[in-house]
This record gives sequence, structure tokens and C-alpha cells, in this order.
Amino acid sequence: MSALLCLTYDDALPVHRELVAPALAARGLRGTFYAPAAAGDLHQAVDAWRAVAAAGHELGNHTCWHPCRLRPGSAYVPAYQLQDYTHRRIRDELRLANQVLTLVDGQTQRSYAATCHDTTIGPDPGASFFAEMAELFPIVRAGHAQAPSAGPMPFITPAFSADRRSAAEVIAAAEQMRGVADAWLVVLMHGVGEGTHNHHMAAEEHARLIDWLAEQSGWLAGVTLCEAARRRGVQA
Ligand SMILES: [Zn+2]
Repeated sequence: MSALLCLTYDDALPVHRELVAPALAARGLRGTFYAPAAAGDLHQAVDAWRAVAAAGHELGNHTCWHPCRLRPGSAYVPAYQLQDYTHRRIRDELRLANQVLTLVDGQTQRSYAATCHDTTIGPDPGASFFAEMAELFPIVRAGHAQAPSAGPMPFITPAFSADRRSAAEVIAAAEQMRGVADAWLVVLMHGVGEGTHNHHMAAEEHARLIDWLAEQSGWLAGVTLCEAARRRGVQA
């Protein structure tokens, strides 16, 4: 039984379908791409995104309009704010996003990555929409992890951020899984390469990471988050 590394990429950027997904597949790796259902590139390049899914990658739910909580003092002001959402509205948006992605990939199950790691709606401090997530998804990625875990995955699974990190830093985290048969680590990033997103991993560092991962196939598998949840099981 292999340790599992889930490479996850947020926000349906052109670089994901143009470079990342083919590079992963060429190395026998599969990734998860969190695509907001209203993302322009998903619609402008739907055939290319369909090819990403057909290559075995996961198209993950990332809402439709990427709502986040407004954080006073933060430079980022989301156009759609979870403070304004009701349980009905978030459920409708998550369901519609699933339906749109099903039109693209034909899949009926996918994981969810919480936008801005937020899992609450309504006026501060907010109410959890755990029940809506539990109804719609086998597993959710939200929050930050600094190290791998082992055994079943929590329904709300944290991720190790690779944005602005070197391959060596991500590999050092992954190496902690060596010899731990039921270990897993979820890695998240946005862009790959300068100019692809404010938050990104340098292209040569990403290439170094996936080359390394492909060489570890004897003990470490690069799989989608949905597949990891299936293999490890999810704690209720
Ligand atoms: Zn996002």
C-alpha cells in the first residue's frame, strides 16, 4: 500500500490545462483541479478542460462565483461575500457548480475546496455550512497543514501550501511519509510559473517536484483527492 500525495490546483487557470495536467499525466500522476463553475477559462476552453478530466484528473468543486468572507484589513475584497449567504444560497451554488462540472466531465462525485478556506456563511462570526458540504461531497479541502497525516482522512482535510515554496520544501514534507504505509499529504497551489497567479509555485520548482514524485512510484502515489478519500476512507 502506497503513501498518497494529492496535488491540488486552484481556480481553473489556463496554465493548469495547458501545462500542468499534461505534465502530470505524462509522469503517471493525477491531480485535482478546483474549477469555479463561473470561471471564464472553463467556458472559453471547455474542450481542453474536458480533456483534463478524460486524462484521469479530478475537476473539483470550488463554488460558482468564488465567494469568500470579507476580512477587514485584508487587501482582498471578494465580489461575492459569504457574509451575505444563507444556507439555501450556498447549497444552491454548490449544487449548480456540481451540475456544471458534470456537464464537462460526466462525473457524479467530486471533492470540494473551500474558497479562502471559509466554511461559514452569514454575519460574523458566521454559521458553518458543514451539513451542506456533507450532503454534496465525499471530502472537503480546507485549512492548512504543515506535515503529512496517516490513516483515515478527516472530512475537512487541511492542505500544505506550495505557493512560493521550493520543490525541496514540499519534498521534505512528503519524505516524512516514507515507511508509513497509510500516510497521506494534500498539497495546494494556485499558479505554476511567474505571471500565472499572484500565488504560485515557480515553474522549474514545480517541474522538479513532479519529476521527483514520479520517481517515488514504488512507495508514493500521486492521486486525486477523491481517490485518496476512497483509498483511505473518511472519518465522519
Ligand atoms: Zn480559490
